Amino acid sequence: MTLTIHYRDDMVPADAPGNYSKSPSKPRRFLEFLRTTPLWPHIDLQDTFSPLTRDDLLLAHKPAYVDAFLAGTQPRCESNGLVWSPAFRDSVLLTNACLLSAITAAVDNPTQVTMAPVSGFHHAQPSGGSGYCTFSGQVIAALKLYRERGLRGAWVDLDGHFGNSIEDSREFAPDLDAAIAPGLNINPSGSHGGYLADLTAKLAALKQAVLSGNVEYVAFAHGADSHEWDQLGYQCSTAEWLQAAELVYWMLAEVRKVRPLPVTVALFGGYRDDHPESVLGLHAMDVAVCLRRLCGVDLNYQAEVRPRA
Ligand SMILES: [Zn+2]
Repeated sequence: MTLTIHYRDDMVPADAPGNYSKSPSKPRRFLEFLRTTPLWPHIDLQDTFSPLTRDDLLLAHKPAYVDAFLAGTQPRCESNGLVWSPAFRDSVLLTNACLLSAITAAVDNPTQVTMAPVSGFHHAQPSGGSGYCTFSGQVIAALKLYRERGLRGAWVDLDGHFGNSIEDSREFAPDLDAAIAPGLNINPSGSHGGYLADLTAKLAALKQAVLSGNVEYVAFAHGADSHEWDQLGYQCSTAEWLQAAELVYWMLAEVRKVRPLPVTVALFGGYRDDHPESVLGLHAMDVAVCLRRLCGVDLNYQAEVRPRA
């Protein structure tokens, strides 16, 4: 079985010099990287999704912020910490749509594992962006799936930074408590052995929630900035980071033996100016674990993760 990556070339804006975060160009760089690996023949691409609309954004955000970002009104349009341009705006509408598209496709066909190779959501708040995150794509997707289909999800967020977007949106959208129940926006704390122990405990609770019928889909983002050589990370050695991937996909595989649980994967953060390929390599090795555990494709793939210069 293949992994279906939802991707459009125009998700990526023309380079915006001066940004600390290179995440806006990551979808394209990640796809180019994957193309050079033995994983590529096991990947399908899906590009039939359209940009989110203003109404979609209003599910999770206040009109004043949505309209400022759409129009490029300073300073609020750059509250995410990124330089605004019309091309960047258009790319944000597509990356948020990509996440929704990937989750929706997994829900429609749970045998298919889907991926949205995107970032830039989990620090956004109802009234503004934050930390290179513009809109709460997770919240928008969760509310759409809950309001339109009654589906409840969970997020496993292994980015190095706490995914506050979901928690910070609960007051704005009270039914988010049903769409992603408190406790099911999983962000482990600690580092090294403690991090893996906390993740293990939280995955056990998630497994129980899924098997009890309280969670209908799971989304997983393995941010590479939870790696100890990342500019912003400290949590995991390479072996520990890959062990975290094993723990997540193993649990999902166990559940999928019992019920057809939809699974979607996203990228989230990762910052290595000295060797950006280390970030892409970590994400690719995560995909390799996903393919082995969930798609029955065992490639024994290893990427270079270079110690920080
Ligand atoms: Zn991060």
